[in-house]
Amino acid sequence: MILANARLSQGALADVEIASGVIAALHKPGSADQPGERIDLKGALLLPAFVDGHIHLDKTHWGAPRLPHVEGRSVRERIAAERVERHRVALPIEARASALIRTLIANGTTRTRSHVDIDNDVGLANLEAVLRVREAYRDWIDIQLVAFPQSGLTTEKGAPDLLAAALGAGADLIGGLDPAGFDGDVKGQLDIVFGLAERFGKGIDIHLHDSGKTGAAELRDIADRTIAAGMQGRVAVSHAFALGSIGPDLFAETTDALARAEVAIMTSCPPSAPVPPVGRLRARGVTLFAGSDNIRDCWSPYGNGDMLDRAAIIAERHGLFTDRELEEAFALTTSEADKALGHPRRELRAGAVADLVVVATASVADAVVDRPPRSLVLRAGRTAAERGVASAALKKL
Ligand SMILES: [Zn+2]
Repeated sequence: MILANARLSQGALADVEIASGVIAALHKPGSADQPGERIDLKGALLLPAFVDGHIHLDKTHWGAPRLPHVEGRSVRERIAAERVERHRVALPIEARASALIRTLIANGTTRTRSHVDIDNDVGLANLEAVLRVREAYRDWIDIQLVAFPQSGLTTEKGAPDLLAAALGAGADLIGGLDPAGFDGDVKGQLDIVFGLAERFGKGIDIHLHDSGKTGAAELRDIADRTIAAGMQGRVAVSHAFALGSIGPDLFAETTDALARAEVAIMTSCPPSAPVPPVGRLRARGVTLFAGSDNIRDCWSPYGNGDMLDRAAIIAERHGLFTDRELEEAFALTTSEADKALGHPRRELRAGAVADLVVVATASVADAVVDRPPRSLVLRAGRTAAERGVASAALKKL
């Protein structure tokens, strides 16, 4: 296949040759005369496909009628509400999760990481449903699954055994939840999380909403444990609101520890929380990546699974206005997220996997500002979506 007259992120045009699922070569426009399918992009921008670094496939109500949002802002109140609401959603997990997956792909995302609830209420049922969804779409999207102790670890009886069973059943990472703020036992929860990671040889991704000095101390604890376990580059912390709510000296100490331990930070950049400051983290060498987090579920009535929207939300919140800054926001949904998730980066170069997105605009900065429709999404060189609609080859569950 030739994608003719593709605009690259630096502005130049090229004919991009794709063979056996990878970018075979970049040719001067008009110079590629290989046989096969030829699509003239007429100067539209060609981008690497996006990564949604944090979603909840089992929680989403996507495709089901909207349930009115139950009041309650604290993590504890939301969990209590969810334990009732999760049983009232009209469609089974497979139908909702697969509807969201097709939307992610239609929006240009071909890699994601989903946390999946594991607690005494649902046992491994949510994980088993999401594993079926992952299998059904394995040719179209890479899905990492995190065994997520949504109801706590030390305060939820039997949770460590359930999490061990989840890791044995196919979860790729072990999760965690506010060791101080929820379980009230930092050592107890982190001992279990790092113990399970070591026992099963899995990565870690911990939800940490704890703010201020408490959250910062937990971040440094996680960094120290990461180095002690030799897990540099395999640990992430999602949210890390503490980084948006501490003074400069503690910020420097904490981010230095994170950078040393190669602990990545995921931000969904909710407008209502003190979020990790993107530019200051980057300046201190901390890997930062983006995710949608909750998409239309018991935690949030918002979200649309569009990573160009997410890049724009992050850029606007942080006052990232120059083209270079907008490119940096975009990188949180592409190259930086690939790095954080342990995937090879998908640049536009010969040899890279042909996971590609076409948008009718002139530059990466324009793509973030305009968020134009995705005219074409390729997954390993095959058409996964066209004009914002997932291909018919992606079967509905
Ligand atoms: Zn989450």
